[in-house]
Amino acid sequence: MGGWVAITILRNNFMAKIKINKNKCKGCYLCVVNCPNNLIKIEKELNIKGIKSACFSEGKCTGCAMCAVICPDGAIEVYRDI
Ligand code: SF4
Ligand code: SF4
Repeated sequence: MGGWVAITILRNNFMAKIKINKNKCKGCYLCVVNCPNNLIKIEKELNIKGIKSACFSEGKCTGCAMCAVICPDGAIEVYRDI
């Protein structure tokens, strides 16, 4: 897993966001199918690898970090929205 993945433990009353490094994404979509709130979609544009990367869609992210943990390439960062 990439070294720059940072996971923040959040209380439920805080909004969270994720940041996906689209050019690092290889399009396996493990994050898409494992987000319990269906907040991760597939980008329409191709990344530099010629792949439609995962992208965050607006919605209530709980900061559970499932997406970051499951990403095999460490392409997702979860952080508190302050
Ligand atoms: S799990 Fe990681 S590599 Fe796979 S689609 Fe999501 S961001 Fe991309
Ligand atoms: S942190 Fe949890 S709720 Fe937020 S996008 Fe990732 S899997 Fe979904």
